[in-house]
Amino acid sequence: MSRRGSILPLIAAVLSSGNGAPTEPDWDTLGRSWWSHVQVLADDGMEGRETGSPGYARAADYVVQQFRAAGLQPAGVDGYFQPMDFLVTQLDPVRSSLELVRGQVVRPVALGDEVCHMVSSASVEQFDAAAEFVGYGLKVPDLHYDDLAGIDLRGKIAVLVSGGPSDMPSPLKAHFQSPQVRCDTLREAGAIGAVRIPNPTIPELPWPRLASGLLMPRMELRDVGPGGYHPLPVTVIFNPESAEMLFEDSGHSLKEVLAGLGTTRPLPRFPLAVRIRGRVGFSRGTARCHNVVGLLPGSDPKLRNEYVVVSAHLDHLGIGTPVNGDPVYHGAIDNASGVASILEIARAIHDSRSTPRRSIVFLAVTGEEKFLLGSEYFAAHPTVPGPLVANINIDGVWSMFPLRALEVLGVEESTLGDDIRALAAETGVEIHTAYEPDRVLFIRSDQYNFIKRGVPALFPGIGYTRGSPEEKLAHEWTRVRYHSPADDAKQPVEPSAAARFNDLQRKLILKIADSPERPRWKPESFFNRFAR
Ligand SMILES: [Zn+2]
Repeated sequence: MSRRGSILPLIAAVLSSGNGAPTEPDWDTLGRSWWSHVQVLADDGMEGRETGSPGYARAADYVVQQFRAAGLQPAGVDGYFQPMDFLVTQLDPVRSSLELVRGQVVRPVALGDEVCHMVSSASVEQFDAAAEFVGYGLKVPDLHYDDLAGIDLRGKIAVLVSGGPSDMPSPLKAHFQSPQVRCDTLREAGAIGAVRIPNPTIPELPWPRLASGLLMPRMELRDVGPGGYHPLPVTVIFNPESAEMLFEDSGHSLKEVLAGLGTTRPLPRFPLAVRIRGRVGFSRGTARCHNVVGLLPGSDPKLRNEYVVVSAHLDHLGIGTPVNGDPVYHGAIDNASGVASILEIARAIHDSRSTPRRSIVFLAVTGEEKFLLGSEYFAAHPTVPGPLVANINIDGVWSMFPLRALEVLGVEESTLGDDIRALAAETGVEIHTAYEPDRVLFIRSDQYNFIKRGVPALFPGIGYTRGSPEEKLAHEWTRVRYHSPADDAKQPVEPSAAARFNDLQRKLILKIADSPERPRWKPESFFNRFAR
């Protein structure tokens, strides 16, 4: 599939004026070029780019073509591709059910509307277990905080509300709620499963969209490697609107529990009066898919053996439950936009004939929507020989209003934060930390797999001033378009904002690649513990 539009306006956009003075880049033209990639990748023909699908393969071919045009060398194991294998588990709702049992009383719970099974390679077909409410279910040794202290969870199902006390630092809250740490902690405490009640105070996917997402195939890496993610045999997500029924006769109510949200105190913990009984129908299979890896070799004889990774996830949700008659989950902003940004950054570096000292890896990953699988695989099996020294990850370029601010996750954690602050200051752009720390977005995109291996990382995005009309627009976008077919290339955008964003990231990447010193974690950063 060829790119729309001609290359000529681009060249015009980056050339300086005739008198030799540098001119302001033509942001509109650059923005349209960025958006043209989004239009290709979010097209119906890409079928939502689900991991392992023909649509994803077509999108990956487009990325290869663009990498080649930007002068990047193939740096996968098969040309530009890094293939990997997945285990696939597909829920069969017809053969599934869930009941709450109290003595002789059996209360069926409506699958889809009230509750959802989340299947995995560890799923069991039947379970029947006592349940215990464990508050946030967090165990954070750093803070001597332990919701599981003194509770016997052996053979039981832990029922918890996502989130954490308001004064718990966001990186800790994020790390200890990651599925891997969460499952390991509950398993060590003896639990066979978890029922998660999404925190109703955190702006998230509306329930119907969350529920339909859980009907999509669940994928896991076949080769998880040491320290990989091992799910629990039972995982259930309960609609917060319906979850009161779990608390009947326990002497407590969900309402009372939720009143404790937003405070610094742990939530109460107590045994529930109901047993949870389930049947889970599922089928198992396998799939294969690939990351796309392009390399700009560094110019310095020594530093070229160190690699700066610029990543964006190429996959999205594929074809699913239709919304307003559209079954294609186009993933225009999530994350055709981020891929478009790394393509534009690679091309701009190429066109400007920059010769960065360190090598730069441009990485379009698969399996992000299946919980960060492609980046996990790359971080565990890098296709380049030297150390990875930084990761800049772009996921969702919200180009809906002029660029005045950035939201930068991880900005306080490493020297990369100082670099981006300095560049933003030069252009008068404000820097914000996570707007919604409780959404734990720092562990919800691909940078997290680099962080866990000690690589300093940033997740920058277009931001807004708190309380501004732009903030309203952003919330509205999450409510209406996030993980919905409405995240398509027909939505209103202001591409020039993305062009400015891309330019700032390009400068950041070159600054990192040229700096005599490697980036490093701040000594006081929680993530410093992962550094080797
Ligand atoms: Zn997504």
